[in-house]
Amino acid sequence: MKPWLGANWKMHKTVREAREYVARWNSLVEESPLGEEAEVVLFPPFTALAAVGEALVGASLGAQDVYPEDQGAFTGEISPLMLAELGVRYVLVGHSERRHILGEEDAFLRRKFDALVARGFVPVLCVGETAEERRAGRTEEVLLRQLEGVLGGREAFPGTFVVAYEPVWAIGTGTPATPEDAAQAVARIRTYLHGRFGAAADGVPVVYGGSVDPENVGGFVRPGVSDGALVGSKSLEADVFYRLVRNA
Ligand code: 13P
Repeated sequence: MKPWLGANWKMHKTVREAREYVARWNSLVEESPLGEEAEVVLFPPFTALAAVGEALVGASLGAQDVYPEDQGAFTGEISPLMLAELGVRYVLVGHSERRHILGEEDAFLRRKFDALVARGFVPVLCVGETAEERRAGRTEEVLLRQLEGVLGGREAFPGTFVVAYEPVWAIGTGTPATPEDAAQAVARIRTYLHGRFGAAADGVPVVYGGSVDPENVGGFVRPGVSDGALVGSKSLEADVFYRLVRNA
């Protein structure tokens, strides 16, 4: 499987800043093309999606969130139809910041996942335990609960998606999980996916996120550990993220 590398900008960059980023990214890619060696996805904030989508070379477009209805009285929300028109292919579901800061729960995330699949997007389902849950030895239980909350009870393989293992304690802290810890969690997720969907799920990329940088990315993105990385702070400069992709 070729590495999958996501740049989650979170709540960073105005449209002007996003344009500057993409101009620099494009010049790096044109100088030294990435070819088919990796699937790279940029996740700008909603306001910058159109500008990034129009200009971006050598990467796919992703959105950080979606509301699970096509239209209606949902003030402030963005629908799958709106994203489709902008050329968005991937959408994050269940990022820990939405679970813990915005209070999103599994039932709601499941609706998002279903709405995305129905409209032909690729959901990126994020799961991960908090520091307290890890200390209490509950990592596996939490991962299975989060996976089951969105994927459980399905008869058939829902179609292409990605799973991101992002331990909450490693996000934005500069302290990543060890590759061994990541490998263990990713393996558990894989076993779950295989148990639920059989061989159909073996092609689902399971990636790691949490304080990934250009120097440590090689430890996470390799056979036996994970299929890629979802990157926050080190995705905010085009040069740094490009180097990270190169080192993966
Ligand atoms: P950091 O790379 O800043 O730790 O963020 C990870 C993340 O949350 C990506 O979705």
